[in-house]
Amino acid sequence: MKKITVIVLSLFLFYGCKKNDKLIDSEIKEERIYKSDETRKANEELQNLKIVNRDDSKENFSIVIHGGAGYINPDNLTPEKENEYQQKLTEAITVGYNILKNGGTSLDAVQQTINILEDSPLFNAGKGAVFTHENYNEHDASIMDGKTLNAGASSGTRIVKNPINLARAVMDKSPHVMLSDRGAETFAKEQNLEIVDPSYFTTESRLKALERVKNSEKNKVSAFYDDTIKDSKFGTVGCAALDKHGNLAAGTSTGGMTNKRWGRIGDSPIIGAGTYANNNTCAVSSTGWGEYFIRGMVAYDISALMEYKNLSLKEAANIVIQEKLSKLGDGKGNGGIVAVDKNGNMVMEFNTPGMFRASMNDKGELYVAMFKN
Ligand code: ASP
Repeated sequence: MKKITVIVLSLFLFYGCKKNDKLIDSEIKEERIYKSDETRKANEELQNLKIVNRDDSKENFSIVIHGGAGYINPDNLTPEKENEYQQKLTEAITVGYNILKNGGTSLDAVQQTINILEDSPLFNAGKGAVFTHENYNEHDASIMDGKTLNAGASSGTRIVKNPINLARAVMDKSPHVMLSDRGAETFAKEQNLEIVDPSYFTTESRLKALERVKNSEKNKVSAFYDDTIKDSKFGTVGCAALDKHGNLAAGTSTGGMTNKRWGRIGDSPIIGAGTYANNNTCAVSSTGWGEYFIRGMVAYDISALMEYKNLSLKEAANIVIQEKLSKLGDGKGNGGIVAVDKNGNMVMEFNTPGMFRASMNDKGELYVAMFKN
């Protein structure tokens, strides 16, 4: 029985190969000698075959990241610091790009790219996160799979080294979407994620920022936002990617806002506000004043405009960030997003003076920028 199957399969393959050879032979004949009906027909078949193959195996992929939006301009960034940011953004996006290039998933690319940014003290995520009013670093993160619309998020954790890994574990290993505080930490331990002493996250510059905000807070209602500390809250990190399999994913990780209290949670771990991914539309990661991103459901709104109004990603992102978000809170709705659509088109839209950002397409072309062009 086995023998017969093998013989039938071999004949089938042999015939198939012969047929293809014939088509290729015909094409050559057509080019070099003459165009008979037979060769024309064969050539048409070959053309069809090529088109079908191309549709079946999608080769395009792309990845885009941000390292926070805010009052980033050449006046408050030394050339040395600028260089440091440039290098770290390049290092991070290259990690994700290589995963995608080798056929890996957009989820892995997003997670591992964010890990690099979380481990760098330059950004307000993981090491280098901003301080809460009570002198803690409390981390929020989320990740979403555009294929299944599955998502995971964590908020208010103090000892999980890479919060995006916790968000991924919540998505993959729990029946829930969001876990918070000490419960989320217990889950992280159970999942054998890397746990660190809270002091691991401390950086001098973030401590100073907290001090500055506390000093200027005395007469203010809004404890974590002040014009004088414009430069001390940016640095949230995020990533959106499309892989070779046509799947989109997005993720975001942050320490939130300096001097936050009462268990404040921003948009970053909120699916639809800070992160959203849907294979029918796009993948988005947000950064900016979280309260307005939540009220505007920014990431989902971009996807919804594409889905229900047939807008392009560029058009949708422009409307949501430049028109809708900008109007929220009498102009306080500031920040930006990075996003990629199902065809690999990328967008980096922001209404602040700057946003740390980088992108890479399937040709390996790298773009890194910080200020408005
Ligand atoms: N969106 C973050 C939050 O509100 C902060 C930021 O992106 O700068 O927690």
